[in-house]
Amino acid sequence: MLMELTHRCPLKCPYCSNPLALDRARDELDTATWKRVISEAAAIGTLQGHFSGGEPMVRDDLAELVGHARAEGLYTNLITSAVLLTASRMTELAQAGLDHVQISFQGADAEVADPIAGLRNAHAKKIAAAKLVREAGLALTVNAVVHRRNLHQLPAMIELAVEAGAQRIEVAHVQYYGWALKNRAALIPTRAQLDEATIIVEAARTRLNGILTIDYVVPDYYASRPKACMGGWARRFFNITPSGKMLPCHAAETLPGLRFERVTDRSVGEIWADSPAFEVYRGTAWMAPPCQGCPRAEIDWGGCRCQALALTGDAAATDPACGLSPNHALMAALAVAESTAAIDDFAYRMIS
Ligand code: SF4
Ligand code: SF4
Repeated sequence: MLMELTHRCPLKCPYCSNPLALDRARDELDTATWKRVISEAAAIGTLQGHFSGGEPMVRDDLAELVGHARAEGLYTNLITSAVLLTASRMTELAQAGLDHVQISFQGADAEVADPIAGLRNAHAKKIAAAKLVREAGLALTVNAVVHRRNLHQLPAMIELAVEAGAQRIEVAHVQYYGWALKNRAALIPTRAQLDEATIIVEAARTRLNGILTIDYVVPDYYASRPKACMGGWARRFFNITPSGKMLPCHAAETLPGLRFERVTDRSVGEIWADSPAFEVYRGTAWMAPPCQGCPRAEIDWGGCRCQALALTGDAAATDPACGLSPNHALMAALAVAESTAAIDDFAYRMIS
């Protein structure tokens, strides 16, 4: 379960996966409702609770919610920009039983990272926060979101993770939903940049074997087969938005015509079991050719519905990241055109 406690965030990353229409503070679920949601999720067998946002640390009740999730038997993970992580809050979270922290970095130094984050001194605060996480004895993952503007720093970002004492780094090429889709032409790397990054990751994996685990997520725009988005629609993942909508994927609200139920109207277990928005792309019966009958149908589940909609206008189409999709050439052409375009300006993420 991914809990987007809030959409508030001091940063303005132009690739943020939050929707363009951000929830306001006054619409956020209160502490008691989040606790009920956590208990209901545990009751249907949820194993992990990921506290995210926006920036989850803007919520004063974060440690209380982490403690409740731990008491309900969930593995707890904090996904944070870390710019608000002080020593006292680290102690509070560790005492609440937090298991793991993921800190996002926008680059390897302040010169590159801070203009991407849209916040001065953000990078220095993240470095200090990573130290606090390790001193508290918690597991640490560095999230390195990479794109055209920071790929030249990939080797230094991997070194940063080693120096920070992280056990894991996730080198994730931007996925083009939400704000990232809006900023695609300023972010998407060229094919040559992608290939170079892949070589750097492979070499680092060998060199750092036993020291740092490196997860690597490539951009769909250069793929020949799609990823199994969310492990398949409504198979093992759900997301709760700040205002309490329950979604099968964090970008699902981009799909028109689907009504996402609220945890204030029905329980987590009821929505998971039979909500129409969860049923619509569950399994394989909804698929049309070439997915229907394809031997990979239960491996990649037809790819991403949000990407299919964004690029073909049909959410039930085969993800154009697949080479078997009739729209695959269109996606590849977009990548070439936009990665070589001289577009530098970002539309920074903000609540309008
Ligand atoms: S991606 Fe950036 S702007 Fe979006 S929630 Fe994370 S830190 Fe905030
Ligand atoms: S046709 Fe559909 S199921 Fe087959 S590989 Fe492509 S996306 Fe996957």
